[in-house]
Amino acid sequence: MQVPVADRLRLTEIFLSLQGESRSAGWPTVFVRLTGCPLRCQYCDTAYAFHGGDWWEIDAILAEVARHGVRHVCVTGGEPLAQKRCLVLLQRLCDAGYEVSLETSGAIDVADVDPRVVRVVDLKTPGSLEQHRNRLENIPLLTPRDQVKFVICSREDYDWAKGMLVEHRLDSRCEVLFSPSFTEVAPRDLAEWIIADRLPVRFQTQLHKQLWGEEKGR
Ligand code: SF4
Repeated sequence: MQVPVADRLRLTEIFLSLQGESRSAGWPTVFVRLTGCPLRCQYCDTAYAFHGGDWWEIDAILAEVARHGVRHVCVTGGEPLAQKRCLVLLQRLCDAGYEVSLETSGAIDVADVDPRVVRVVDLKTPGSLEQHRNRLENIPLLTPRDQVKFVICSREDYDWAKGMLVEHRLDSRCEVLFSPSFTEVAPRDLAEWIIADRLPVRFQTQLHKQLWGEEKGR
């Protein structure tokens, strides 16, 4: 019998690793990587998720997540919200009792995401070459449960992010993450800039890349 389209999502991979970013860094986490992204950030390290993948029933995704036996689940991409049924998956994962986070580009409306989900929303810097995709209407929707993330590609990006922080009073809404672009900014430089400016942001590096480099599925 053919599976009704409403119950399926296009999926690139499901794997168990350590969460390498955000407030949940360090927790054993199942990653559900949905296929497709309408953006093309110049530093993207998951271009393999732009195309391909397989159709999975949401029930099958839940079963595969359960098989790994951990409490944290991260729905990522690509841009997971590019598939509308991602909202159903997020709700089902929450209903099943998982600690659920969503990594999203910040280009798509996050209003209908289940409120139990931790939304990690990017604000794309000029250095990403996708700044024009930022959906600034998302900013007033952010709560202390959420996080906003800047990937910093240069000192100019840092200054721009600092301006956004002040202009939108981001730190009064939610936690703000500053992360160096892996090959473009030395982590130490970014750390020094944050300390010098006493910025109310959380510095983070990508733990999984320190552990496993650019290995796929990690
Ligand atoms: S939004 Fe994420 S997945 Fe899409 S191009 Fe940018 S970094 Fe890659």
